[in-house]
Amino acid sequence: MLLQVEGFVANTTDCGESDKMLTLITRRYGKLSVYARGCRKLTSKFMTASLKFSYGDYVINKTEKSCILNEAYAKMTFFGLRRDMVNLALADYVAEVTADVIMPEEPEDQILELALNSIYLLSEQKKQHRTVKTAFETRLMTYLGLAPHLDRCCKCGKNEDDTYYLDIMDGTVICSKCTEKSAGVRTAEADEGKAYIVSVLSKEAKDFMKRTAECEKTKIFANPPESIIKEIGAASERYLINQLEKNYKTLDFYKEIAD
Ligand SMILES: [Zn+2]
Repeated sequence: MLLQVEGFVANTTDCGESDKMLTLITRRYGKLSVYARGCRKLTSKFMTASLKFSYGDYVINKTEKSCILNEAYAKMTFFGLRRDMVNLALADYVAEVTADVIMPEEPEDQILELALNSIYLLSEQKKQHRTVKTAFETRLMTYLGLAPHLDRCCKCGKNEDDTYYLDIMDGTVICSKCTEKSAGVRTAEADEGKAYIVSVLSKEAKDFMKRTAECEKTKIFANPPESIIKEIGAASERYLINQLEKNYKTLDFYKEIAD
C-alpha cells in the first residue's frame, strides 16, 4: 500500500553503507519507522528530505513488515539550527520528546505543530531558547491531558499568596501559608539528584505558566519576564520529566551547554 503523508523527521539511524532508518512523525498515521535506501549518498534524491528535522511530503510503500521510502520532498529543513549549538541541542530534545509521546497510528496534530513551531523559532533565532523550552514543555502537558492545576491553592482555594509549591507528582499547587500549617514540603532543590517532590513558584511565575498552558495558540511562545524565566523553566522541566517518567539524554546535553 502506498501512503502519501506530510511528516517531520524526528530522528535518524544510519544503516548499512548508505541507508537510514527515519523516525517520521506524520499528520495522518502518527509515528512511522521508515527505511530510506541510499539516502546518505550525495546523489540521492532523498538526501535532504531524510535529514533530521526535515519536514515535507513523503510517499511510503507500507507492507505488513516494513515501511520503505519511495519518494520524498523537503519543504523545510531548519538549517538555521546548525548556526547555534544550544538551539540545536534544544531542538534535539524537542524532537526526542515528540517522538516519544506520539505513537504509531495515533496522530497528534497539535503536538506536531507545537514541535515544528518550537524548532522554527530556534532555527530562525526568533525567540530565546529558554522561552521556547518552557513553552514547549508546558503546552505539551496540556495536549497530553496532564496539565497541572495552577489556578489556586489546592488546600485553601485562594490565589493570594506570593509563593506556591507545585507538586510535580499530582499537579497541584499549595500556597506557602498552607504549607506552614502542614508538615512542610521537600523542595526540588533539597532533593537534588533524587525524585523531585515540589518546585517553588512565585505567584507571577505560576500565573504565567497557567496562561501558557491555556492561552490561544498565537500566544504560546510569549516571552516571560526575565525575573521569572529560570523558575518557570525549572518547574516545567521537572513536571514533564516526572509526568512522563523519562530521562532524556538530549536534555542532559542541552543543560550541559546552555548557560
Ligand atoms: Zn493555601
